[in-house]
Amino acid sequence: MSPSARTTAVVTGGAQGIGRAVADRLAADGADVIVGDLRDPGDLGVRQRWVELDVTSELSAGALAAVVGESVDVLVNNAGIMFEASIAEQTVEQWDMAMAVNLRGPWLMTKALLPQLQADGGGAVVNIGSIEGIGSNPLHTAYSASKAGVHGLTAAMAVDLGPLGIRCNAVAPGWIDTALNRDYLDRLPNRDQAIAELAVLHPVGHIGDPADVASTVAFLASRDARFVSGQVVVVDGARTTKLSLPPSLSPDA
Ligand code: NDP
Repeated sequence: MSPSARTTAVVTGGAQGIGRAVADRLAADGADVIVGDLRDPGDLGVRQRWVELDVTSELSAGALAAVVGESVDVLVNNAGIMFEASIAEQTVEQWDMAMAVNLRGPWLMTKALLPQLQADGGGAVVNIGSIEGIGSNPLHTAYSASKAGVHGLTAAMAVDLGPLGIRCNAVAPGWIDTALNRDYLDRLPNRDQAIAELAVLHPVGHIGDPADVASTVAFLASRDARFVSGQVVVVDGARTTKLSLPPSLSPDA
């Protein structure tokens, strides 16, 4: 995406959180941004418009593709869901929903927008994966499996779509300060302690902001990344780079 050319971007799940930060960043960089989400965020900027979208539905993906115009330069597959459940307690419906939103969604949206992504010399797809596609937190079998799938899908799409002029990369965020995480922390009796302990997990000394993910997405979507494809870029303040030690051996203790 060249900063001088008028470009079009589609951001799924762009009503709030990381997706909203991505939609704001791409609009600030000069793109016309279509925010595809289940609900209208209601407060979009002039370069942004909402199109109702359920990424689990082929009909809905097709309906969005029918209204976005002939060319899409950037597709950001961000919509995602997460829930905690043991394997014993998890239902087949929960598993299937995680896969339908987190993994089939990016595939389906890319498929629906293929003609537009190929137009004008080819576009860029950025999938939002997770560090939980590399490791896992407890009770996240469906979430981790779906995000590992997103990383594999990214590689496969880069291979298959490269000859069509489409680059595909993923961003794997670590702990990002979104409403989802904030609500979770606010519910903890030891919230302040948890926040302090989270900071220690991160060699950079703090958790991430949605804007930290958005700036990485903006780079991968840009012409500056024209030779970057098939990559998973971890944005986690080195959390997954830091090896864990037992408390008795840790200088942080
Ligand atoms: P949020 O829950 O804040 O935002 C997700 C958005 O996606 C919501 O607006 C939601 O709408 C929308 N959405 C959910 N299901 C669908 C669907 N079927 N079709 C269209 N839109 C949908 O999440 P985050 O901003 O925290 O996360 C965004 C992405 O980043 C996700 O893929 C997540 O897995 C990933 N991620 C997040 C991390 C974090 O720390 N926050 C860390 C690593 C990865 P509604 O609210 O109406 O359901």
